[in-house]
Amino acid sequence: MANRRHSARHVKRLRSYNVREAAKATGATPGTVRHWHKNGLEAVVGVYPPIFRGVDIIAFFKRREDDRKRPCGPGRMFCFRCKEAKTPAFGEVEFWPDGPKLGTLRGLCPECAATMNKRASLATLRASAGDLKVSIRCADSRLSETPEPNSNPHSEGG
Ligand SMILES: [Zn+2]
Repeated sequence: MANRRHSARHVKRLRSYNVREAAKATGATPGTVRHWHKNGLEAVVGVYPPIFRGVDIIAFFKRREDDRKRPCGPGRMFCFRCKEAKTPAFGEVEFWPDGPKLGTLRGLCPECAATMNKRASLATLRASAGDLKVSIRCADSRLSETPEPNSNPHSEGG
């Protein structure tokens, strides 16, 4: 999981860092830096142990920041199995209301077919769903008229 304590704020663009120095500069552990290295942080080619250029560390943090800002933007939902934001299969989602204003958008992950859920309100539904086709399910069963639970036969006709 992304850890907000990690930051490239103290990384100098023109410096080079080994794993331990990169860890210190970003507030991470060396193990985390190695993990970043496996997940897209570029090291200087042909050097072992790895050396990272400050400019690459900064770029890596920038990319992560961008991903975090819009992981589930309009038309996208988060699949917990794939651990990624996806556009739901068939470009379709269902909206299941669970109150007068709130509900859950449900879509299928296009890769693993897991159900992806996203909280939404009727007011933000359009913004959340983006270009997706939304079907609203069992919308008003609880909002429509409910039978009077304590109808009193003696009161009939006054
Ligand atoms: Zn998935």
